[in-house]
Amino acid sequence: MKRNFPVAIALLILGVSGGQGFAQQYKGPVIDAHAHIRFGDGDAVKADQPIGTEKLLQLDAQAGVRQSALIVIAAKGQPEQTRANNDRVIAAAAASQGRFYAVPSVHPLDGEAALEELRRLAKLGVREIKLHPNTQNFDVSDPAVGVVTAECGKLGLAILFDSYKPWDPSQTGKFLLLAVQHPQTHIVLAHMFFSQFREAITFAQLSKLGMATNVSFDLSAIAVAYQGSPVVPELVWTIRKIGTDHFLFGSDWPVDNPGDALKAVRSLGFTAQEEQAILHDNAAKLFGLK
Ligand SMILES: [Zn+2]
Repeated sequence: MKRNFPVAIALLILGVSGGQGFAQQYKGPVIDAHAHIRFGDGDAVKADQPIGTEKLLQLDAQAGVRQSALIVIAAKGQPEQTRANNDRVIAAAAASQGRFYAVPSVHPLDGEAALEELRRLAKLGVREIKLHPNTQNFDVSDPAVGVVTAECGKLGLAILFDSYKPWDPSQTGKFLLLAVQHPQTHIVLAHMFFSQFREAITFAQLSKLGMATNVSFDLSAIAVAYQGSPVVPELVWTIRKIGTDHFLFGSDWPVDNPGDALKAVRSLGFTAQEEQAILHDNAAKLFGLK
């Protein structure tokens, strides 16, 4: 008994630290795959969000985020404004010396104008667009969403969808169908269904049949919301079941700061290798970043 005492103490210290503090952390570059930009005229994501990229650059530098998405969201029936906003976000990214990559948007209910814009964006080197069922007020099962999703697949554009709409309880199933019907399109589901993340296990199950493997999730909002909670072991278990190669780091700036979001993901207790995949490698691979 006496002989094992130092071992017991060591285990106790490990236990007290929660394991997480002792885990080797990934120290390399970080990509924030979910941050919004506001230009200040009719594109408000959050009324008090700073205009332009200056504040985000500052926060990224503080947090150790090397590259970040810049997201805009298109309004319905304003194809000219949509084009102008997309051009602005592409220009902001181009002027950033690799600090930002543009995530423009179309409105899926804009018909041919949306498809035309997608073709234009692909030619400009865009790799991902954003669609938001709540902000843009569309239903994921609308055939028009399928048309846009199919076109994105043809053009090599990934789609970042907001995935949480608590007043549409079928939405997780609608995303599942969309992913299965358009296997050539890469779909990123932001927030991992948030408080309904348990549903995500279905994607792990279907991948055994070779279906819905074209889906990634980002951990924006959900990691910050659940950090330090009793839910963490189940969240991490679910992420591992799906595969950490299907997860991206995101802050959802200006909802959360990149630094807070990063701290939240690091607190979940992933291995350094898993962190590297989530915080950098998966996004780098998906969007052709360094
Ligand atoms: Zn967002």
